[in-house]
Amino acid sequence: MKLAVVGTGYVGLVSGVCFSELGHDVICVDQLESKIEQLQQGKSPIYEPALDELIQKNIQEGRLKFTTRLSEAVQASDVIVLAVGTPSLPDGRANLNYIEQAAKEVGEALNSFKIIVIKSTVPVGTNERVHEIVSENTMYPFEMASVPEFLREGTAVSDTFNPDRIIIGTSGEVAKNVLVELHKPLTEKIMITDIRSAEMIKYASNAFLATKISFINEIANICEKVGADVTQVALGMGQDKRIGGSFLKAGIGFGGSCLPKDTQALIQIAGQMDYDFKLLKSVVEVNHNQRFNIITKLESKLMDLSNKTIALWGLAFKPETDDVRDSPAFEIIQELLKRGAVVRAYDPIAVDNFKRHYKFEGVNYTDSPEESAKEADALCILTDWKEFRDISPKLILSWLTSPILIDGRNIYSDEEIINTELHYDSIGRPNLIKGNKEQKSMLLL
Ligand code: NAD
Repeated sequence: MKLAVVGTGYVGLVSGVCFSELGHDVICVDQLESKIEQLQQGKSPIYEPALDELIQKNIQEGRLKFTTRLSEAVQASDVIVLAVGTPSLPDGRANLNYIEQAAKEVGEALNSFKIIVIKSTVPVGTNERVHEIVSENTMYPFEMASVPEFLREGTAVSDTFNPDRIIIGTSGEVAKNVLVELHKPLTEKIMITDIRSAEMIKYASNAFLATKISFINEIANICEKVGADVTQVALGMGQDKRIGGSFLKAGIGFGGSCLPKDTQALIQIAGQMDYDFKLLKSVVEVNHNQRFNIITKLESKLMDLSNKTIALWGLAFKPETDDVRDSPAFEIIQELLKRGAVVRAYDPIAVDNFKRHYKFEGVNYTDSPEESAKEADALCILTDWKEFRDISPKLILSWLTSPILIDGRNIYSDEEIINTELHYDSIGRPNLIKGNKEQKSMLLL
């Protein structure tokens, strides 16, 4: 099959590359020349495991091309996939400027029958709007489909090759047959729906995942008060098949380019229909507050944070990605600086992106975890990179001036902490692992 993918971000690039790996001829389009130049040289502009190798392999084998010329890509293809961004507007609604612009350009470029697929996350009714825009700009026939994307950053390639399901929302017979054929090698679980339901499935899925995270974070906050351990609670809950264990990891809340914007957008979609989505509003509020637990926990140990050196490990919103959009680290740093703390931050991959997105005066970005923690007054773990798990708490203790470790992602177990003198705090776990010898000895009994 011949495909054009418009937008080479996390979704468009990964989808385009994976389709080329399946044997299709793919042309990826982006309006950013610098991105396309880098891709033409076989280098991915984003960090995503296994992506660079696949880009190079498929360029070499002649199935994958990159261009800024949308019309050429469209004219050479049978299926056009729109994967441009739909970021939040200030009021939380999805900004559809990019998708509408791309629709206009696709319409102007059509030279024969094509299938137009929207992979971007878009409010219900957007496919119909895109249909209208394309129709206004072409005489040629086309069919539309909504094929929402569910990949996760950090495991995007593997998710694309092993999806839980594929949703195809379309009323077009040709589009249905062609898109089933395209996705069949990935999974047998292909669900055909009407377009509006497909658009809604994406928002409802993300809203549900966000709800699970905020739910377990609230349970964690209660666990702290009643002396229960949220990691045990989540394990016990998750074994119930009706609940399931994923997205029950307490921490400092969700971030990234999807859950924050998609929850806000769904609240707005509901609001426009005079429906007050109270549950989701609470999910968003709980999530926002959760990140500030780091500050509360630091203040409970150090009192005044002014002139204290605070080491932060993790700037990306989650491990295995360099995406820093809506990362909790941003507001945590803002609060620390407001209180006069000296911030030393480390991330294995995301420092450059973080610096580009957030212009902080006075944050010292380090090249290693040790450099950031050395002689600091406290260390806070904000992202659960494997690199951090591999560093022993004893080593951390030897680096710090005062032995305070706030583990915002619960990466260390009781056993790892219990034999150190660290004043350790984490999310939703009992106070006994805080360097208190009496409590430690009770645990060891
Ligand atoms: P992104 O911001 O990383 O990339 C979007 C790309 O589109 C940019 O490179 C931009 O230059 C390009 N672009 C915009 N307008 C264009 C035009 N007219 N012509 C050519 N290129 C154009 O976005 P993303 O994270 O890949 O997300 C894309 C969509 O997929 C969003 O709707 C998002 O909600 C959804 N989504 C994202 C993820 C994720 O994990 N990032 C997962 C599922 C769904």
